[in-house]
Amino acid sequence: MPKYPSLSAIQEALLAGTTTCRALVEHYLEQIDRSSALNAYVETWPAEALDRAEALDARLKASGPAALGSLFGAVVSLKDNICYAGHQVTAAAKILEGFTSLYSATAVERLLAQDVIFIGRTNCDQFGMGSSNENSVYGPVRNALDPERVPGGSSGGAAVALQTDTCLVSVGSDTGGSVRQPAGFCGLWGFKPTYGRISRHGLLAYGSSFDQIGFLAHNPTDIARFLAVTAGPDAYDSTAGATGSGSETAAFDPKKIRIGYYPDVLSSEGLDAGVRAVLETYLEQLRQAGHDLRALPLPSINGKDVFDYIIPTYYVLTTAEASSNLARYDGIRYGYRAPAARNLQETYLLSRTEGFSDEVKRRILLGTFVLSSGYHEAYYRKAQQVRRLIQQQTLADLSGCDVLLMPVAPSTAWRFGEKSEDPVAMYLADVFTVQANLAGVPALALPAGRHPENGLPVGVQLIGGLWDDEKLLEIGSRL
Ligand code: GLN
Repeated sequence: MPKYPSLSAIQEALLAGTTTCRALVEHYLEQIDRSSALNAYVETWPAEALDRAEALDARLKASGPAALGSLFGAVVSLKDNICYAGHQVTAAAKILEGFTSLYSATAVERLLAQDVIFIGRTNCDQFGMGSSNENSVYGPVRNALDPERVPGGSSGGAAVALQTDTCLVSVGSDTGGSVRQPAGFCGLWGFKPTYGRISRHGLLAYGSSFDQIGFLAHNPTDIARFLAVTAGPDAYDSTAGATGSGSETAAFDPKKIRIGYYPDVLSSEGLDAGVRAVLETYLEQLRQAGHDLRALPLPSINGKDVFDYIIPTYYVLTTAEASSNLARYDGIRYGYRAPAARNLQETYLLSRTEGFSDEVKRRILLGTFVLSSGYHEAYYRKAQQVRRLIQQQTLADLSGCDVLLMPVAPSTAWRFGEKSEDPVAMYLADVFTVQANLAGVPALALPAGRHPENGLPVGVQLIGGLWDDEKLLEIGSRL
């Protein structure tokens, strides 16, 4: 249990004078020391965090709360793929070893302007590629509930940072579930906004048409406050748009929330029986509370379940985008350069060979393949078309209800090594989270209960309509 459950509790304590920002930071730094064996952080910024805390305490004392930003007192961790000027950022990759950001991500600037305190950068899967946080140059992150198990990924450090009470909110990124799946594996709340809700400027690109910055927290209210501050248009990201809130879709009856779900997903073979039991109990509770549960037929494409297409479509498109995005890491412009290279060609070749992990190389190769002239039409273009169908069907199913309810993942947190030798098994574990990124819609993971056998957290996922981010968070907190 965290010492401070929410930002409002912290702010009340600060205003009442029962704590100070300095005391908060000291508490979190102690927790970081205590939990360092879990490897959630790759770097901490204690001196800077304490300085900022003292400056905030002084400002509060001198000028009162009106002189402070709306997030004062929030101590925050930052995933190691988001830029913070003057601080190192590596995406857990050797190729960015020693690289310091020249500017801050727009989201980081907006958070700083509201007086958050960043305490350190968190471990993750390299360039956000992975579902277990085993793919990091800093070594794996361990789940605090069972250190023999993975915390999920790619934002595994962000999740364990919260589990161990080392910060109030973790900033992560979600291309296909990287915020929601670790939240699910660690018993937390995790939110991926509508695509374009938060600027991607300063987020190291993986799959640009999928990536979103998101938040992990202990409750949806803190997430909503972070969203309010970071969302909105940005001159540095033309895909970051104004909100659609205020539209009539945002209205809902809190006593009778219309919740769509797919019985075929709940009965599917791939879903762990304990996870299914928790989800069925959860649905039953919602039904008894008077909500309007709507069983939906599974969408299909050419007579096949849409879920057969989701993983292939996601991995064709994200690897294509990654192969292009990661071309910039060439041994010349950023971070690591192979010392043995004798000429330009060898500089590219050796720096990339030594600087990227096997998983990242696998994806660059796959992405380059699906974009190559002989296969572009068969794979990349086809996947674009299927993505459009998946989006249309997702939006059609959402049009009749307020949210869609899904599992977060087919199982609870697995043991180290269980899937790391089999990339396809790892990819398949993303089946329930990537739909929201393919469709661009917001999605929220929340704790639904404990697995009846292994006692690990089971998450439930709520998917909302485009731009209905606030409504989704509101529904999450009511449920
Ligand atoms: N596990 C997914 C992948 O490896 C999602 C990662 C993410 O959201 N960054 O692509």
